[in-house]
Amino acid sequence: MNLVLMGLPGAGKGTQAEKIIEKYSIPHISTGDMFRAAIKEETELGLKAKSYMDKGELVPDEVTIGIVRERLSKDDCKKGFLLDGFPRTIAQAEALEDILSSLDKHLDYVINIEVDKSILTARLTGRRICQSCGATYHLEFNPPKVEGVCDRCGGPLYQRADDNEATVQNRLDVNIKQTQPLLDYYGKKGYLRNVNGQQDIEKVFSDIDQLLGQLADR
Ligand SMILES: [Zn+2]
Repeated sequence: MNLVLMGLPGAGKGTQAEKIIEKYSIPHISTGDMFRAAIKEETELGLKAKSYMDKGELVPDEVTIGIVRERLSKDDCKKGFLLDGFPRTIAQAEALEDILSSLDKHLDYVINIEVDKSILTARLTGRRICQSCGATYHLEFNPPKVEGVCDRCGGPLYQRADDNEATVQNRLDVNIKQTQPLLDYYGKKGYLRNVNGQQDIEKVFSDIDQLLGQLADR
Protein backbone atom coordinates (compact mmCIF):
# COMPACT_ATOMS: atom_id res chain seq x y z
CA MET A 1 0.00 0.00 0.00
CA ASN A 2 1.41 3.33 -1.10
CA LEU A 3 0.30 6.13 1.16
CA VAL A 4 0.77 9.82 1.81
CA LEU A 5 -0.10 11.02 5.32
CA MET A 6 -1.23 14.59 5.85
CA GLY A 7 -2.36 16.61 8.84
CA LEU A 8 -1.66 19.94 10.51
CA PRO A 9 0.75 20.28 13.45
CA GLY A 10 -0.90 18.76 16.52
CA ALA A 11 -3.26 16.54 14.51
CA GLY A 12 -1.53 13.40 15.74
CA LYS A 13 0.24 12.46 12.53
CA GLY A 14 3.33 11.05 14.26
CA THR A 15 1.29 8.81 16.55
CA GLN A 16 -0.84 7.44 13.72
CA ALA A 17 2.21 6.96 11.47
CA GLU A 18 3.79 4.74 14.13
CA LYS A 19 0.67 2.62 14.37
CA ILE A 20 0.31 2.26 10.60
CA ILE A 21 3.91 1.18 9.97
CA GLU A 22 3.79 -1.27 12.87
CA LYS A 23 0.62 -2.98 11.71
CA TYR A 24 1.35 -3.00 7.98
CA SER A 25 5.18 -3.31 8.03
CA ILE A 26 5.82 -0.51 5.57
CA PRO A 27 8.56 2.09 6.01
CA HIS A 28 7.72 5.54 7.39
CA ILE A 29 9.41 7.96 5.02
CA SER A 30 9.63 11.44 6.45
CA THR A 31 11.42 14.18 4.56
CA GLY A 32 13.78 14.89 7.45
CA ASP A 33 14.84 11.24 7.82
CA MET A 34 15.25 10.92 4.08
CA PHE A 35 17.58 13.92 3.89
CA ARG A 36 19.59 12.77 6.90
CA ALA A 37 20.05 9.29 5.38
CA ALA A 38 21.09 10.63 1.96
CA ILE A 39 23.61 12.96 3.60
CA LYS A 40 24.97 10.20 5.84
CA GLU A 41 25.33 7.82 2.88
CA GLU A 42 26.98 10.68 0.95
CA THR A 43 24.95 10.02 -2.19
CA GLU A 44 25.44 12.59 -4.93
CA LEU A 45 22.04 14.11 -4.22
CA GLY A 46 22.63 13.95 -0.46
CA LEU A 47 25.81 15.97 -0.83
CA LYS A 48 24.03 18.43 -3.09
CA ALA A 49 21.25 18.88 -0.52
CA LYS A 50 23.84 19.36 2.23
CA SER A 51 25.58 22.13 0.29
CA TYR A 52 22.33 24.09 0.23
CA MET A 53 21.48 23.37 3.84
CA ASP A 54 24.97 24.38 5.00
CA LYS A 55 24.45 27.76 3.36
CA GLY A 56 21.05 28.03 5.06
CA GLU A 57 19.29 27.90 1.69
CA LEU A 58 16.20 25.98 0.68
CA VAL A 59 16.96 22.68 -1.07
CA PRO A 60 15.70 23.04 -4.67
CA ASP A 61 12.81 20.85 -5.77
CA GLU A 62 14.83 18.83 -8.27
CA VAL A 63 17.21 17.70 -5.50
CA THR A 64 14.38 16.87 -3.08
CA ILE A 65 12.50 14.98 -5.78
CA GLY A 66 15.66 13.06 -6.72
CA ILE A 67 16.12 12.01 -3.09
CA VAL A 68 12.48 10.86 -2.92
CA ARG A 69 13.00 8.87 -6.12
CA GLU A 70 16.09 7.15 -4.68
CA ARG A 71 14.30 6.36 -1.44
CA LEU A 72 11.16 4.95 -3.07
CA SER A 73 13.31 2.75 -5.34
CA LYS A 74 14.75 0.87 -2.36
CA ASP A 75 13.75 -2.72 -1.66
CA ASP A 76 11.95 -1.98 1.58
CA CYS A 77 9.32 -0.01 -0.38
CA LYS A 78 8.26 -3.05 -2.42
CA LYS A 79 5.29 -3.73 -0.15
CA GLY A 80 4.51 -0.05 0.14
CA PHE A 81 5.43 3.09 2.03
CA LEU A 82 4.03 5.88 4.16
CA LEU A 83 5.22 9.28 2.93
CA ASP A 84 5.14 12.06 5.50
CA GLY A 85 6.12 15.67 4.77
CA PHE A 86 6.27 15.14 1.01
CA PRO A 87 4.74 16.34 -1.26
CA ARG A 88 4.27 19.89 0.02
CA THR A 89 3.34 21.52 -3.30
CA ILE A 90 1.38 20.59 -6.40
CA ALA A 91 4.63 20.54 -8.39
CA GLN A 92 6.00 17.97 -5.95
CA ALA A 93 2.76 15.99 -6.11
CA GLU A 94 3.04 15.84 -9.90
CA ALA A 95 6.67 14.79 -9.60
CA LEU A 96 5.62 12.04 -7.19
CA GLU A 97 3.16 10.68 -9.74
CA ASP A 98 5.95 10.58 -12.33
CA ILE A 99 8.30 8.82 -9.92
CA LEU A 100 5.68 6.24 -9.03
CA SER A 101 4.67 5.53 -12.61
CA SER A 102 8.35 5.13 -13.60
CA LEU A 103 8.64 2.57 -10.78
CA ASP A 104 5.43 0.89 -11.95
CA LYS A 105 3.65 1.90 -8.76
CA HIS A 106 0.70 4.11 -7.99
CA LEU A 107 -0.61 5.97 -4.99
CA ASP A 108 -3.42 4.29 -3.07
CA TYR A 109 -4.56 6.86 -0.53
CA VAL A 110 -3.72 10.28 0.77
CA ILE A 111 -4.86 10.09 4.39
CA ASN A 112 -5.63 13.47 5.90
CA ILE A 113 -6.15 13.66 9.65
CA GLU A 114 -8.69 16.44 10.14
CA VAL A 115 -8.83 18.48 13.34
CA ASP A 116 -10.40 21.93 13.87
CA LYS A 117 -8.01 24.80 14.19
CA SER A 118 -9.37 25.76 17.64
CA ILE A 119 -8.66 22.26 18.95
CA LEU A 120 -5.18 22.25 17.43
CA THR A 121 -4.48 25.59 19.08
CA ALA A 122 -5.52 24.18 22.46
CA ARG A 123 -3.38 21.08 21.92
CA LEU A 124 -0.32 23.04 20.86
CA THR A 125 -0.48 25.80 23.48
CA GLY A 126 -1.05 23.34 26.35
CA ARG A 127 2.42 21.85 26.09
CA ARG A 128 4.77 22.31 29.05
CA ILE A 129 8.38 21.22 29.30
CA CYS A 130 10.57 20.53 32.35
CA GLN A 131 13.44 22.95 32.53
CA SER A 132 15.65 20.39 34.29
CA CYS A 133 15.06 17.06 32.51
CA GLY A 134 13.15 17.98 29.33
CA ALA A 135 10.11 15.81 30.13
CA THR A 136 6.99 17.03 28.30
CA TYR A 137 3.50 17.46 29.72
CA HIS A 138 0.19 18.73 28.49
CA LEU A 139 -2.16 20.78 30.67
CA GLU A 140 -5.18 18.86 29.38
CA PHE A 141 -4.01 15.48 28.12
CA ASN A 142 -1.00 14.71 30.31
CA PRO A 143 -0.94 17.11 33.26
CA PRO A 144 1.72 16.93 35.98
CA LYS A 145 0.53 15.80 39.42
CA VAL A 146 1.41 19.19 40.89
CA GLU A 147 0.84 22.26 38.71
CA GLY A 148 4.07 23.68 37.31
CA VAL A 149 6.27 20.92 38.77
CA CYS A 150 7.87 17.95 36.96
CA ASP A 151 6.65 14.55 38.23
CA ARG A 152 9.95 12.95 37.35
CA CYS A 153 12.51 15.31 38.85
CA GLY A 154 10.64 18.15 40.61
CA GLY A 155 12.02 20.70 38.15
CA PRO A 156 10.02 23.77 37.04
CA LEU A 157 7.81 23.50 33.92
CA TYR A 158 7.79 26.18 31.24
CA GLN A 159 6.06 26.93 27.96
CA ARG A 160 8.27 27.10 24.88
CA ALA A 161 8.19 30.51 23.18
CA ASP A 162 6.98 28.75 20.00
CA ASP A 163 3.97 27.37 21.84
CA ASN A 164 2.32 30.69 22.71
CA GLU A 165 -1.07 31.33 21.15
CA ALA A 166 -0.12 33.97 18.56
CA THR A 167 2.83 31.92 17.26
CA VAL A 168 0.76 28.73 17.18
CA GLN A 169 -2.09 30.42 15.29
CA ASN A 170 0.38 31.80 12.80
CA ARG A 171 2.06 28.42 12.33
CA LEU A 172 -1.33 26.82 11.70
CA ASP A 173 -2.41 29.53 9.24
CA VAL A 174 0.80 29.09 7.23
CA ASN A 175 0.26 25.34 7.16
CA ILE A 176 -3.40 25.60 6.19
CA LYS A 177 -2.54 27.94 3.32
CA GLN A 178 0.18 25.59 2.14
CA THR A 179 -1.76 22.32 2.35
CA GLN A 180 -5.19 23.38 1.07
CA PRO A 181 -4.19 23.37 -2.63
CA LEU A 182 -2.71 19.89 -2.18
CA LEU A 183 -5.85 18.60 -0.49
CA ASP A 184 -7.90 20.01 -3.37
CA TYR A 185 -5.55 18.41 -5.89
CA TYR A 186 -5.74 14.98 -4.26
CA GLY A 187 -9.48 15.35 -3.74
CA LYS A 188 -9.99 15.84 -7.47
CA LYS A 189 -7.72 12.91 -8.25
CA GLY A 190 -9.78 10.71 -5.96
CA TYR A 191 -6.95 9.77 -3.59
CA LEU A 192 -7.99 11.85 -0.61
CA ARG A 193 -9.45 10.15 2.46
CA ASN A 194 -10.31 12.43 5.37
CA VAL A 195 -10.18 10.91 8.82
CA ASN A 196 -11.73 12.58 11.88
CA GLY A 197 -8.76 13.33 14.14
CA GLN A 198 -10.96 14.70 16.94
CA GLN A 199 -11.57 11.26 18.38
CA ASP A 200 -9.36 9.36 20.78
CA ILE A 201 -6.15 7.94 19.37
CA GLU A 202 -7.41 4.36 19.12
CA LYS A 203 -10.60 5.38 17.30
CA VAL A 204 -8.65 7.49 14.81
CA PHE A 205 -6.43 4.51 14.13
CA SER A 206 -9.34 2.12 13.76
CA ASP A 207 -10.84 4.44 11.12
CA ILE A 208 -7.52 4.50 9.24
CA ASP A 209 -7.17 0.77 9.69
CA GLN A 210 -10.57 0.19 8.16
CA LEU A 211 -9.52 2.11 5.04
CA LEU A 212 -6.25 0.21 4.79
CA GLY A 213 -7.92 -3.12 5.39
CA GLN A 214 -9.83 -2.61 2.15
CA LEU A 215 -6.50 -2.29 0.32
CA ALA A 216 -5.04 -5.37 1.96
CA ASP A 217 -8.09 -7.39 0.88
CA ARG A 218 -7.67 -6.54 -2.78
ZN1 LIG B 1 11.96 17.06 35.09
